[in-house]
Amino acid sequence: MKYWIDTEFIEHPYTIDMISLGLVAEDGREFYAESSEVDWSKASRWTLQTVRPQLQGKGMPRETISNAVRLFTEHDPKPVFWGYFPAYDWVAFSWLFGGLADLPFHFPQLCLDIKQWAIELGDPELPHQTGQRHHALADARWTRQAWTFLCGLDPNGAERCATGRKNPDQVA
Ligand SMILES: [Mg+2]
Repeated sequence: MKYWIDTEFIEHPYTIDMISLGLVAEDGREFYAESSEVDWSKASRWTLQTVRPQLQGKGMPRETISNAVRLFTEHDPKPVFWGYFPAYDWVAFSWLFGGLADLPFHFPQLCLDIKQWAIELGDPELPHQTGQRHHALADARWTRQAWTFLCGLDPNGAERCATGRKNPDQVA
């Protein structure tokens, strides 16, 4: 099953501190969680002014979030994750479980990138995001919209999935 993912985070060399996580599943279910462990002292003015006011304020420890993600994806033998410029999101997401090698074994180690797919297709203009922005669940919903748009241009490309592990012989 596909999952569209977005996180809000504080990027501050050399940390990526996850603030919130949104997931939209192909079957319509949605997941949203906020971290109670954010170090706001590293946040930019933009993050404090744009992201923080949109939070619901019911943060939970990262470990609790990771357990909830396991439940959310339970019984799915082959999850596929899609993000938009997801490099940082994927680091923040992977760290919920420890690291890349600690992801649940059936999770792919790679998040597919809407932007990369768009570039392959000549970089068409993606649907504009209306309403709430820079909120992880709202952005994850838009990522699905963007995927749906690209799927209309390239139905075969929409079914790609990440397989294999970066280091197949690595024992965590
Ligand atoms: Mg976002």
